[in-house]
Amino acid sequence: MSNSSNSPLLEVKNLNVFYGSIHALKGISFHVNKGEVVSLIGANGAGKTTTLRAISGIAEAQGEIRFKGNLLNPIPAHDRVSLGLAQSPEGRGVFAQMSVYENLEMGAYFRSDRAEILKDIEMSFQLFPRLKERAKQLSGTLSGGEQQMLAICRALMARPDLLLLDEPSLGLAPKIVAQIFEIILDLNKKGMTVLLVEQNAKMALKSSHRAYVIETGLVTMEGRGQDLLNDDNVRRSYLGA
Ligand code: ATP
Repeated sequence: MSNSSNSPLLEVKNLNVFYGSIHALKGISFHVNKGEVVSLIGANGAGKTTTLRAISGIAEAQGEIRFKGNLLNPIPAHDRVSLGLAQSPEGRGVFAQMSVYENLEMGAYFRSDRAEILKDIEMSFQLFPRLKERAKQLSGTLSGGEQQMLAICRALMARPDLLLLDEPSLGLAPKIVAQIFEIILDLNKKGMTVLLVEQNAKMALKSSHRAYVIETGLVTMEGRGQDLLNDDNVRRSYLGA
């Protein structure tokens, strides 16, 4: 992990989200500093994905979301991408009817620096050579792991300052999970700030500078990844100890 500085890149205060009568987030607050990997861990339905959806602007939220000091709340989701926020969604969310190459191009839809876009596509292919082999294949026919690789690379094509990753390990074989976490750490070493939502608490805590535990729409614990890995409550509830 790279060294983190103290300036908050993302600051979330008192976040509330309702789905009809369901009060999914009940006043969540946390921050992510530039250069950090921060993870949100918690059980099914705790509100992790909803938190990312609120930050990227897909879920309507009350409370304050600041990115680089600017209030994001009034800004629509597509404009948040050009401010430097990109999300790799849960369940991969690739455009199934488009090829791998077209998905990567879509990730850079708001950019006009064609030569740099081509360089970034090449970088995706270096990160995951499998995607290069599959460049012309329809994304819907990729394996789960390949779709996950593509979803991460598509988010990277936006050249984000903050990468939001929703469950990058979901449904993947341990070897691919390890590879994906290695790449997350490598991106972080090169300067990328990452907010990670994970049910695989062990991998997430091992790979994070700091983490927050979310339970039924509230932050119930926070600390350094390594400290939470050794915490008895976390071990019992999330690490199967
Ligand atoms: P998981 O790890 O299972 O993905 P999560 O922590 O990401 O869980 P969320 O997906 O954020 O949890 O869901 C939080 C709560 O909001 C859950 O009770 C869920 O049923 C509810 N919820 C999520 N999306 C919707 C929706 N579109 N409509 C109604 N309720 C929703």
